[in-house]
Amino acid sequence: MEATGARRAPVPRPRRALFVDRDGTLNPDLHYLRDAERLELFRGVGEALHFAREHGELVVCVTNQSGIERGLYTTDDVERIHRRLNELLGPFDARVDAFYYCPHAPERGCRCRKPGTELFERARDELHLDLPSSSFVGDRLVDVEAGRRLGVATAVVRTPGHEALVDRELADAGVRADLTADSFRAAVGRLLAWG
Ligand SMILES: [Mg+2]
Ligand SMILES: [Zn+2]
Repeated sequence: MEATGARRAPVPRPRRALFVDRDGTLNPDLHYLRDAERLELFRGVGEALHFAREHGELVVCVTNQSGIERGLYTTDDVERIHRRLNELLGPFDARVDAFYYCPHAPERGCRCRKPGTELFERARDELHLDLPSSSFVGDRLVDVEAGRRLGVATAVVRTPGHEALVDRELADAGVRADLTADSFRAAVGRLLAWG
């Protein structure tokens, strides 16, 4: 006898994600930024995220925001900054599809603060992501370490002014990213084999 009634819900096909760090990667790191009006994107970020979207990537930002637990700003401030970030991306027909942030201070030893991988795993489950075909662009050792633990391709951006810092961090830890680039645009271009 044939089954009747509701069809089985379609299982969504897992999608590739372009995970991105926020501060120092998409925007200059203003250290505990609270005021969304001060947010600026690095040059080329809008074009790169537009390309990623055209390429079928889901853009997922994963960011450590310990300023929340430290009382320097609130979750509302962080969410306002994320809305502003997408407003700035609008003219490029680009957007960050989802933001995940850790609100904890490092002393708490939570598993969501990078290089912990909990936020990425939450994103994978909620957004049906295929990690082996995904990648992560960041500007610090914790980003590369998180990406390594997850098994995604890792790219590090040598943010102008921070090159020496990131080079030293990676060298001291004996950790290498799959690729190193001098701008976010170049990192995305090479990860996604774009010009
Ligand atoms: Mg960063
Ligand atoms: Zn956390």
